[in-house]
Amino acid sequence: MVLKLSTLFLRTLREDPVDAEVASHKLLVRAGYIRRAAPGIYTWLPLGLRVLGKVEAIIREEMNAIGAQEVHFPALLPREPYETTGRWTEYGEGLFRLQDRKGADYLLAPTHEEMFTLLVKDLYSSYKDLPAYLYQIQNKYRDEARPRAGLLRGREFIMKDSYSFNIDDEGLEEAYQAHRAAYLKIFARLGLEILPVFATAGAMGGSKSEEFLHPTPVGEDTFVRSAGGYAANVEAVTTIVPEAIDYTDAPAFEVKDTPDTPTIETLVECANEVAPRTGNPWTAADTLKNVVLAAKMPTGERRLVAIGLPGDRNVDLKRVEANISSHLETGGEVELEAATEDDLKKHPTLIKGYIGPALGTDDAVLGLEGSSKILYLVDPRVVAGTSWVTGANAPGQHVFGLVAERDFTTDGTIECVEVHAGDPAPDGSGPLETARGIEMGHIFQLGRKYAEALDLKVLDQNGKLKIVTMGSYGVGVTRAVAALAESNHDENGLVWPRNVAPADVHLVVTGKQVELFEAAQKIADELDAAGVEVIYDDRPKVSAGVKFSDAELIGVPTIVVIGRGLADGVVEVKDRATGTRTDIAVDEVVAELIALAKA
Ligand code: ATP
Ligand code: MG
Repeated sequence: MVLKLSTLFLRTLREDPVDAEVASHKLLVRAGYIRRAAPGIYTWLPLGLRVLGKVEAIIREEMNAIGAQEVHFPALLPREPYETTGRWTEYGEGLFRLQDRKGADYLLAPTHEEMFTLLVKDLYSSYKDLPAYLYQIQNKYRDEARPRAGLLRGREFIMKDSYSFNIDDEGLEEAYQAHRAAYLKIFARLGLEILPVFATAGAMGGSKSEEFLHPTPVGEDTFVRSAGGYAANVEAVTTIVPEAIDYTDAPAFEVKDTPDTPTIETLVECANEVAPRTGNPWTAADTLKNVVLAAKMPTGERRLVAIGLPGDRNVDLKRVEANISSHLETGGEVELEAATEDDLKKHPTLIKGYIGPALGTDDAVLGLEGSSKILYLVDPRVVAGTSWVTGANAPGQHVFGLVAERDFTTDGTIECVEVHAGDPAPDGSGPLETARGIEMGHIFQLGRKYAEALDLKVLDQNGKLKIVTMGSYGVGVTRAVAALAESNHDENGLVWPRNVAPADVHLVVTGKQVELFEAAQKIADELDAAGVEVIYDDRPKVSAGVKFSDAELIGVPTIVVIGRGLADGVVEVKDRATGTRTDIAVDEVVAELIALAKA
């Protein structure tokens, strides 16, 4: 059906919405694709739904092609299954929880592992039933701390989520690879540049995991890559651990007065005055900085964690968050923030600016000690035998030559520092460079975590009950619409790739004569009959200028102008992306446009 602008439910806007920061958000609202309903929650208008439908259709085709079958779960779910896996609590503030009239707990699903697991448990009982790949395209709800950039990070959003069920690990690997290949095809067909990067599994648990990042400066994910082909989310980068150093001959540590040195900068300056080293002045890299963080546990408890790292580096909170769950034994996601004055007051032995490991004396209650009440984790570069300048747990004092392992212990290592450009790739493939991207998809080998928790077992070849192994695979569908808009626009508006555009052709009539409208209507009908999707700007009282700017804003790939040229038997065909204009004979234009649309 031809979409006529005289009746289409659409109002384009000249002004950017005040809450919009990124181009995709501004343009999708201005061009009439979406409207904000509440923070991070959007209404889809007719044009938007057409793009969304095309994105979904591509995803469906590729999922069906790997033998996945579509189902559809409710978004409103009971608490119990999520209680069983621990996620009712572990999901923290991100989960929308609610109650029915009887006071029973429900949630709006942030993702559906539990329900898929239970469904398969309900219906399947034998290895012969497997493998099974199931998926849905459905609303998800997450009370994001920072809903942002329109559809890019919503609180309600659409995800394609699929789940694989296999009897053994080889099967899981096959399912994972099938999804990986399908994802590469999906993003290629969408016209979205994608880089698969290694990731940490976060709250999902499980082992192997990759994210599909779309490189763009507006992305919230920092990733790194090397010339040799390594690519990873910074959370997942691992440090090449230096070899331990023999400390048999290392001199004993010394506590020195270093007045007014609460920062690394002041400390380095002071160290070079009170303990000058000839030819090798102290630098920030010689210092061990101890940063105290507060972990907001899923239980509501606030636990302090101290992180020790070389003083020339900063803590990357996201990396700590991604890697800390095993140390805190929460099993789930933990939010971290810098410890407050109040937090520190509860531990009077921590002297801000002078915090260091316990010095191995009899009264080792001062400072950070491995296995003490405050978990003390260090950067992997702090290996046995490395010698540090660090806080002496007394105001205005630091300790020099404190040797790891000999003089202090820790509760383990953690990937915690900001990854810098130039750091070596963990696989030896060269120095890393950093870039930003949007996470478009994420695939996980979950393994047996959910099947175990929910008791999904089937009979194996020997008639024994065996726990099923699972994978879970997500694509951000509404986020894909935003990413496409973000990467396909210019100063005048959206520039959709043909595969996802709301229509193929946008017809504009300029002028008042009835013949112009008749000619346009005829072209529109012929295109429509040939299966070419048409937007027809048939508004009689709207100026040519407004029609042109609306056409540019809406961003359909081919714009056809039916105006003055018609008297000479030609119409103008304009390519939205390149701006190229060509006059084409009016009796050839339909064939030409069909060829363009079907190319
Ligand atoms: P992010 O790190 O961006 O918060 P996530 O890792 O929490 O995402 P997953 O649980 O892996 O997300 O969900 C699968 C996919 O769903 C993501 O790759 C992303 O494309 C999409 N997605 C996740 N959260 C949102 C959101 N708030 N708004 C829109 N899409 C989202
Ligand atoms: Mg993810």
